[in-house]
Amino acid sequence: MGKIVLIYTGGTVGMRENPQTGALEAVDFGELLPMLGELGKMRLEFETVTFNPPLDSCNVGPETWKQIAEEIIARYDSADGFVVLHGTDTMAYSASALSFMLDHLSKPVIFTGSQLPIGRPRTDGKENLISAVEIAAARDGDGHALVPEVCICFNSQLLRGNRSVKVNATGFDAFSSPNYPPLATAGISIKYNTGLIHHPSEPGRPLEIHTTLDTRVSVLKVHPGITEQAVRDILLGTGTRAVIIETYGSGNAISKAWFLSIIREAVKMGKILVNITQCLSGDVDMDIYATGRALKDAGVISGHDATTESALGKLFFLMGGHPDNHEVKALLEKNLKGEISK
Ligand code: ASP
Repeated sequence: MGKIVLIYTGGTVGMRENPQTGALEAVDFGELLPMLGELGKMRLEFETVTFNPPLDSCNVGPETWKQIAEEIIARYDSADGFVVLHGTDTMAYSASALSFMLDHLSKPVIFTGSQLPIGRPRTDGKENLISAVEIAAARDGDGHALVPEVCICFNSQLLRGNRSVKVNATGFDAFSSPNYPPLATAGISIKYNTGLIHHPSEPGRPLEIHTTLDTRVSVLKVHPGITEQAVRDILLGTGTRAVIIETYGSGNAISKAWFLSIIREAVKMGKILVNITQCLSGDVDMDIYATGRALKDAGVISGHDATTESALGKLFFLMGGHPDNHEVKALLEKNLKGEISK
């Protein structure tokens, strides 16, 4: 019988209405278990870990990611897979970060949650959780995990964590993976796209966790009418070591002299500037337009087809492990965990 560890961090899936205010608040996982009788029929052993207090994922950050990584490594040898129950708002950030923090992963770590609390009659939480558990327990003929990756399982789709984005605030189809196909789709049975699933490059190597993160990153979203002062504040602020620049289309931004001179000044200060497109799909190619080429010439590096969520987690992880910015830049350009198509 396989063993699955359920890590409940919080989120709508486990929330209940506060009778006074009507607002949703996270409750203890123990209160949810009676509603999850279906799990008992799955011929699996479960261990549950509950975060205290459970968090609305708006309050999740590097400390929580570290805690998730530590809970996983502490149970790694005795478990077959992990399901992380998490709020949807920052799930794509957490799944992205964990994909870099968990090295040599050979077991599934499946994030899930829901748009409606599990206690509501029309909840999507039960189906999401049960599919996530089934995927976390799935093995091939040789007994190896079918999906040894950090993923998000939501609305019948299994998405690579570091390719996922939250795209719908209210619908059940809350997540999408615009630049990489789903790893599996749940219908009457779960169909795995086995050729797309990432496997450890050194099988048998024990899991290692990297919990030293450098969070000195900010995000500049370019938009028409952006002021010089706003660009200065973000790009030249002393508190940042890297800035993700969310550009237009295939990686284009303002080519006016004041903008490019701030970019050059930031590069001179030693900052790592990463170009990510604001478009949901497609990738950055700074050679197509003069406006993109100007950024490349000024020292901005391509984020390729990464999501902002994934670029942020990758920067935190790389900067945490490498004091030298040249090393960080070189590794940013490499596909480490399937996060970019390169
Ligand atoms: N605010 C909630 C959270 O992210 C929303 C959700 O779970 O869907 O925790």
